[in-house]
Formats: sequence, C-alpha cells, structure tokens
Amino acid sequence: MKNIIIFGAPGSGKGTYSDEIVKRYGMGHISTGDVLRAQIQAGTELGKTAQAYIDKGQLLPDSLMIDILADTYDALPEGQGVIFDGFPRTIPQAEALKKMLAERKHDMGVMIELVVDEDTLLKRLLNRAIEQGRADDNEETIKARFAVYHAQTEPLSEWFGKEGIRHTFTWKGDKELMLSEIFAFLDTL
Ligand code: ATP
Ligand code: MG
Repeated sequence: MKNIIIFGAPGSGKGTYSDEIVKRYGMGHISTGDVLRAQIQAGTELGKTAQAYIDKGQLLPDSLMIDILADTYDALPEGQGVIFDGFPRTIPQAEALKKMLAERKHDMGVMIELVVDEDTLLKRLLNRAIEQGRADDNEETIKARFAVYHAQTEPLSEWFGKEGIRHTFTWKGDKELMLSEIFAFLDTL
C-alpha cells in the first residue's frame, strides 16, 4: 500500500479509521499522540515535556515532533506503506515530512481528510473522556485543541490540495458508510 496521511480535527476519528485501514491493508501505523502518551506513561524526559503541552491542548514544537517522526518511521519495516495519524499538524511539519520521505526515495502517497461538524466532535471527545479517561478530553482543553486546530492545522488542508493528494470524506452520521467510502477509494490505489 502507498503511504497514507490521515487528517482531521480532534475527535474526527483518525485513530479509529487508521486501525480499520491497518486491519484491511496490513500497513505500518504511526500515531504521534500514542507515541507521546507512551513516553508519558514511561516517565521519560520527552514524556514530561509532552505532558506540559498536551495538558494545555497545545502542539509540541515542530523540531521535536519532526525528530520523533523520523525515528519512528525508520524503525518500521520498509515497503509496506505507513499511515501517518496526527502528523503533520503544521505546514513546517508537512514540509519536513515531504523532505524526509524524498530523502528515502519515498513519497507522501495520499491524504485522507475527515470532515466532521463541531457538535459531533465535542460530543465524541466528551464521551471518550468518560470511556478512556484521557486527561486532555475535558471541555476546557478540548476548546483549546479546537482553537489550535483552526489556527495551525486546518490551513494544511489547502497545502495538501496544492500537492494534489487531498481526498475529502464528510461525516454523514454513519461510521460504516464513512468506512466503506474510504475503502472504496483506497481499493483503487
Ligand atoms: P484524536 O486522537 O481524536 O484524533 P487529537 O488529534 O487531539 O484527537 P492526538 O493526535 O492523540 O489527539 O494528540 C494529542 C496531543 O498530542 C495533541 O493535542 C498535541 O499536544 C500532541 N501532538 C500529537 N501529535 C502532534 C504533532 N504532530 N505536533 C505537535 N503536537 C502533537
Ligand atoms: Mg488520535
């Protein structure tokens, strides 16, 4: 499979659809949020740094994230394709990803954009707070994450559009429908 970048607001389902895509196509999966949460769990220096940003709903510095991403990518087996979940989140991260992949004679593949209305996002994140107890899924931090998303991440959608690899899927109230639309597209690759 080609590389896939899965893109969308907090709560848009990046992790959920990534898991389904991995099951169907058997590729690698990098979730930068999961990488950071594992570091927090392990009590590393990186984890301590990450926690301070995550608790405020802010993004970690680009230079740090770019290093983490490259290390994680190089640790995966080559040639299976990777799904990037939660990265890139800023234009400098996107440019660094493109360059990092080009240096390895790989490319970004396709970008899948998940478009979900904000009421649904908020409901899902508050629900996840109850189910999974993620510390950053409280109403105040969620609002901060939405603001950061609009200011720093959403402009990237256009960047991918210009790269000619953006494919947009809009939430119509049904997960199976969304999934079948995404699979129908990925099956053509
Ligand atoms: P969801 O898991 O529902 O997609 P999300 O996108 O807010 O929600 P994660 O991707 O798990 O959650 O990220 C959690 C936090 O980790 C972010 O709010 C941010 O602080 C940090 N983080 C993750 N990826 C990056 C990144 N690429 N650049 C900077 N910070 C990041
Ligand atoms: Mg996630």
